[in-house]
Amino acid sequence: MRHTERNQKSARGLTRRELLKCGLYGASAAYLLGNLWINGGTGKRRKEKPDVVFILVDTLRADHLPSYGYKINTAPNIQRLAEGAVLFERVISPSSWTKTSMASILTSQNPSRHGVRGVKDMLPEQFTTMAEVFANNGYHTIGINSNPWLKSKFGFDVGFKSYETLLFLKDGGWTDALEVNAAAVAALTQCPQEKPFFLYVHYMDVHDPYRPKSPFYSASPLTIPGHGVIPDIELERLYCDKGFDAPGVRDRVMELYNGGIRTVDAGIGQLLKEMKRMGRLENTISVITSDHGEAFREHGTTKHGKNLYPEVYEVPLIFSWPGHLPSGV
Ligand SMILES: [Zn+2]
Repeated sequence: MRHTERNQKSARGLTRRELLKCGLYGASAAYLLGNLWINGGTGKRRKEKPDVVFILVDTLRADHLPSYGYKINTAPNIQRLAEGAVLFERVISPSSWTKTSMASILTSQNPSRHGVRGVKDMLPEQFTTMAEVFANNGYHTIGINSNPWLKSKFGFDVGFKSYETLLFLKDGGWTDALEVNAAAVAALTQCPQEKPFFLYVHYMDVHDPYRPKSPFYSASPLTIPGHGVIPDIELERLYCDKGFDAPGVRDRVMELYNGGIRTVDAGIGQLLKEMKRMGRLENTISVITSDHGEAFREHGTTKHGKNLYPEVYEVPLIFSWPGHLPSGV
């Protein structure tokens, strides 16, 4: 009963042009994805529903992607996908930290409405989630993440047939993209071939502590006159937590952050390759976005969740559906 009521609520008749104009999550993340397949991009209901993979890269600021003008090639796989896709040039995240932002992205509600702001807050039951929209329309729904703010106990699993928060911090770093992919692929094998799927994967490789590994990052320890040799593992802590900002430190910390982007980009490439091997990338809408960005003292602070400036609130949003969505809209 609850699902039926929620489904009716989601089936608003927005036109494709209206949807593509919409670059703000607060307007409608679930409606956007839901309407794309309901209308099939032509105003007619498609006989065959496309699969949907919703890729959330935690802490990914838009201006560190080559697709958004970054001069360093941090993300060749995302760039390849973006070249044949719809890329929203300016997207504002609903919040500066994960829990509030994801509550908005998954329900299309502004933080002032859903009220998920504090560490103990739960996603209120009365709001339809993106996963519910898909589940109510016959989709097999899967959610895989490694962020403790997204645990089932906070209500983020509503609408998912299978939902998993992987062990998050281990060996000083997050569960990496390859491990998230392994769980996602394992869950996908449980989806019947004749049934469409909605797969939400949430990667943490870019989030602090910045711990990129070879081949996505390699550099000799930084030597700073008067301070000696500073290992990278110390550098981030000194810069972000202690305010240490000698010449060269910020650039090196930012390079560590970029190493995380290279890591997750390779992971996204691997996931899409694996989906292709499984025959589940033939009619698939792929979406890439983030919950917030990251600061490197552009306005006095580091990391995120402390202020609202473009480095923290401007995130990427890319929709790819080859043969259905034009590129560059
Ligand atoms: Zn986050």
